[in-house]
Amino acid sequence: MIGSKEREAALAAESPSPWQVALSQLNIVAGRLQLDQGIRELLSSCKRELTVHFPVRMDNGETRVFTGYRVQHNIARGPAKGGIRYALTVTLDEVKALAMWMTWKCALVNIPFGGGKGGVTCDPSALSRGELERLTRRYATEISVLIGPERDIPAPDMNTNAQIMAWIMDTYSMHRGFSVPGVVTGKPLDIGGTKGRYEATGRGCVFVIQETANQLGINLQEASAVVQGFGNVGSVAARLLHESGCRVVGVSDSKGGIYYPKGIDINDLLEYRQRTGCLMGYKAAERITNEELLELPCDILVPAAVEGQITRRNADKLRCKVVAEGANGPTTPEADLILEDRGIFVIPDVLANAGGVVVSYFEWVQDMQSYFWEEAEINERLRQIMTRSFGEVYSMAQKDKIPMRVAAQTLAVKRVVDAVAVRGIYP
Ligand code: NAD
Repeated sequence: MIGSKEREAALAAESPSPWQVALSQLNIVAGRLQLDQGIRELLSSCKRELTVHFPVRMDNGETRVFTGYRVQHNIARGPAKGGIRYALTVTLDEVKALAMWMTWKCALVNIPFGGGKGGVTCDPSALSRGELERLTRRYATEISVLIGPERDIPAPDMNTNAQIMAWIMDTYSMHRGFSVPGVVTGKPLDIGGTKGRYEATGRGCVFVIQETANQLGINLQEASAVVQGFGNVGSVAARLLHESGCRVVGVSDSKGGIYYPKGIDINDLLEYRQRTGCLMGYKAAERITNEELLELPCDILVPAAVEGQITRRNADKLRCKVVAEGANGPTTPEADLILEDRGIFVIPDVLANAGGVVVSYFEWVQDMQSYFWEEAEINERLRQIMTRSFGEVYSMAQKDKIPMRVAAQTLAVKRVVDAVAVRGIYP
């Protein structure tokens, strides 16, 4: 149980922003670890916050100015690592929160990276391929003062993909005069990408769902699941759950969801989406809203879209046993308290979606060595890291009688604090 002071503070925040959520989570952990004021202040701020405004030539000949960000939260344990997001909702506040969560995520799974994140405020669906490429190359140039294989290594996040990583890698390499594959991860295989990266986040999520099911005595083959978000993370998690025998009864994307209580054949749905471009209209499935989707009866709920989906407004309406956070920050601190009271088991984002950064780490290691591994080896090493990390978090949660999120962040923050302490304060 967390203390009454933290409980009051969490409930006081009406609709907290992602950065407020990240800070309030850190406060809970800083209290538990009895961190002194100096280190609290250090961890409550981002080391570097770069905002760039840059012009892009549009297809109609006009010039439009876009705003982008690259933030490094903490790099005590190694170079900054974190994705790049393209969306109209991107703000500095959001990028800072995502960068802080990356610091904890890398520390939790014990890989030698710090936390970073980036984004451009734009609607990529309204841009032509040429406009997207020019925007990406100019943004990459603007943030090249921060990024580099030893300094800060971006990766895909919402609405960015392997092609965008290829353009960033090429732009950075053009400026250096030679190929620098290690500057980004999530690249195409042809230019130093790794096998298994596309599936890594969803696969890692399913590994920890399996561990949870073992601990809670849930038989996945008789269980049902609902997945919000049908992009990289959500569609892979849904497919792997389906392939492991779990009945996936509902999925959604930004346009809404579908519900089919008998269980959706996810491979068939992927093929349908490929053909039609959407989920709606799939066979006999009922059309539902994203709000309704979250409240469907199921064993496992996987929010794999955006932040702030499970809040004080709907946390008491969830009808699942387990929430596996494929997305970053889908649950607000107030909702956490409600889920805790209701005995719903939360696999926190820093654990549930860490598979992506783990395989990104493998990609970076392979790039630095110019020596590439087989997919079976990658998936097995991913499984080991996810299982070990789950075990560490679960043991602490059980021993100290605290929620999984508090246990995960306590382990992670302690590792970062130890790195800061042993390095000392410069000069
Ligand atoms: P994506 O762009 O591939 O897919 C996002 C999906 O969510 C799409 O189906 C989109 O339609 C849907 N969506 C967007 N807004 C929505 C809304 N308001 N309601 C419902 N659905 C909505 O993105 P992704 O890479 O799968 O990332 C999803 C989440 O997972 C993000 O929070 C991201 O930070 C997190 N994450 C991604 C990775 C990765 O490797 N890609 C790793 C760790 C965490």
